[in-house]
Amino acid sequence: MQIPIAKPFIGEEEKQAVVQVLSSGQLTSGPKVVEFEKAFAAYHGAKHGVATSNGTTALMAAMMAHGIGPGDEVIIPSFSFFATASCILSTGARPVFADIDADTFCMSPEAAEAAITPKTKAIMPVHLYGLPANMPAFEAICQKHGLILLEDSAQAHGAAIGDRHVGTWGTASFSFYPTKNMTTTEGGMVLTNDDEIARHLRMIRAQGMNTQYYHEVVGYNYRLTDMAAAIGMVQLGRLPEWTKARISNGDYYNQKLESVVTPTVPEGYKHVYHQYTVRVPDGVDRDAVAKRLNEKGIGVRVYYPIPIHQQPVFQNMGGYENLDLPVTEKLTKQVFSLPVFPSLTAEERDYVVQEVNAAC
Ligand SMILES: *Cc1c(COP(=O)(O)O)cnc(C)c1O
Repeated sequence: MQIPIAKPFIGEEEKQAVVQVLSSGQLTSGPKVVEFEKAFAAYHGAKHGVATSNGTTALMAAMMAHGIGPGDEVIIPSFSFFATASCILSTGARPVFADIDADTFCMSPEAAEAAITPKTKAIMPVHLYGLPANMPAFEAICQKHGLILLEDSAQAHGAAIGDRHVGTWGTASFSFYPTKNMTTTEGGMVLTNDDEIARHLRMIRAQGMNTQYYHEVVGYNYRLTDMAAAIGMVQLGRLPEWTKARISNGDYYNQKLESVVTPTVPEGYKHVYHQYTVRVPDGVDRDAVAKRLNEKGIGVRVYYPIPIHQQPVFQNMGGYENLDLPVTEKLTKQVFSLPVFPSLTAEERDYVVQEVNAAC
């Protein structure tokens, strides 16, 4: 059996939607983008959606719309994808790394609060693997210290705490990269409830213009195409069913896996299992286990093998060499992710369970 870690799905409806856009002659951003922004924002219960060319530009636009720049610090977890940090560096601001909770893999609110300095401008938790970070706690910390709350929601389409979706606490950036829970090929979106931030985001996305050829701020070309938005509309329609399937696969693994530490989902949290990530017990060689499973045809992956603060680029930047993030550093050596995509068959699921239980 060969089971990949992810299996993006593009159906007939997506293909037809793209052909329709091409036939319409709309070759860049147009009505489909507006439709997709409204639908994606409504799905999460946010007031505004601003679509961008990818998740990284969504993060960069969010930083710029909040005026984050040189001299500012933004607190983020180091246990994430590199773009969580590079979007801060791109503005001239400095990422400050806080440790994570061992149970949830998400940034610890206590650690984040302890990292606040007079230069801190914003806090950006990551809803890692599709599990919401502790947003009520982060919201309280940001209110108490007068800080901007951002969300890296790139992995958490439709995730929620109670009936409140991610993307409604702070300015939140999503990604529609093919392996994410839904795709537009490349694509991204920022959600916000703030009218002024939404206006800024729209300008930053399109050369800083509000009116044509009148440049109010420095902006770039971060536009999404109508072709991508048309795919996004079809995929958004599939998202509820796909999310159910991911959760059902995750629940099954939670019940059947014996030898690894399975994900913790706090009471009332909706984990959308972008990744189903487990930990090997203390003393077990994760790389050996992952290798064995790969040899059995299971597309096991490690997200992420090196924490951001230990990446060469940060080691050469100054100020990060002696940073100590013990939970991040320990879990980086213990985690691996299993196939949890919606079309995983019952047979494949059982094979994964059997091989993981045998592997460590
Ligand atoms: C995927 C991802 C991004 C970047 O999104 P792209 O669309 O690939 O640019 C940012 N942050 C996290 C946590 C991600 O998983």
